[in-house]
Amino acid sequence: MPEGKIVKALSGFYYVQTKIHIFQCRGRGVFRKNKVTPLVGDYVEFDESNPGEGYITKVKSRKNELVRPPIANIDQAIIVVSATKPGFSSLLLDRFLVLIESKQIEPVIFVSKMDLVEKDLYQFIAQYLQDYRKIGYAVHALSIKDLSELKSITGLFENKTSVIAGQSGVGKSSLLNAFNPKLAIETNEISESLGRGKHTTRHVELMEVSGGLVADTPGFSSLEFTDVQLEDLPNCFPEMKALEDACKFRGCMHNKEPKCAVKDAVKAGEIPNYRYDHYLSFYDEINNRKPRY
Ligand code: GDP
Ligand code: ZN
Repeated sequence: MPEGKIVKALSGFYYVQTKIHIFQCRGRGVFRKNKVTPLVGDYVEFDESNPGEGYITKVKSRKNELVRPPIANIDQAIIVVSATKPGFSSLLLDRFLVLIESKQIEPVIFVSKMDLVEKDLYQFIAQYLQDYRKIGYAVHALSIKDLSELKSITGLFENKTSVIAGQSGVGKSSLLNAFNPKLAIETNEISESLGRGKHTTRHVELMEVSGGLVADTPGFSSLEFTDVQLEDLPNCFPEMKALEDACKFRGCMHNKEPKCAVKDAVKAGEIPNYRYDHYLSFYDEINNRKPRY
């Protein structure tokens, strides 16, 4: 039975990429038998009914899935935050990180528009770059004006399915275009001059970028913590998760508990105050289930 990966879903068809080419498939049977709706990113088996066409017969089990945009088997989420325009926000970055960590997806951080960073701002940004690298995150400071820098990291897309996340205007489309000029995705200045919003397409498609696949719609379009469980929150901060056994109480939430290794690390300056402040504010938000920001 031939198998492949769904790279596009449109008007009831699933486009399944195999080693040979892309097959246009229907999902007959799959829905009724296993009660799963195929998603872009799924590995599937199919029956070839006509040359180039077929019916999906089996959706293989997923390692993860996103609802918005609907994509399965994501290897990494690239979070783009701009150094400036819009101004760098560690709060927003931490919010994306928690959303991604809570789905067991590997985050990669891109800090964009570095060419616009002047000396004073550079010091400020450099401290954050250092902090997030210390946690263990892959952090890349980039600019679409510095192609050699971009070229040096194209390997990170290879053989992976990636989603890109980030606020509007931080440069996600510009970066993808810089990695693969053939994509020619509309960037903000173009869509503004045409008087229409970007990403008006309803379907999801995986695009080829540097030997890997990247979702054409930004991931995590909702920034609410609706799916994040309070007990999971400490696991979404790797530097806190690393200390869980050092806290006096099992399942310590690093909040009001005494003899908490996380609070000690914050006091000792090993965990930056802002990271802990964001943790507490997310804690309250999830606990009260109403957004604060
Ligand atoms: P998106 O909404 O995240 O996809 O952002 P866009 O790619 O549409 O970029 C928003 C604006 O920022 C556009 O005017 C881009 O030209 C500009 N931009 C993106 N990346 C860079 C960069 O590295 N340097 C500079 N100077 N401008 C950038
Ligand atoms: Zn603790």
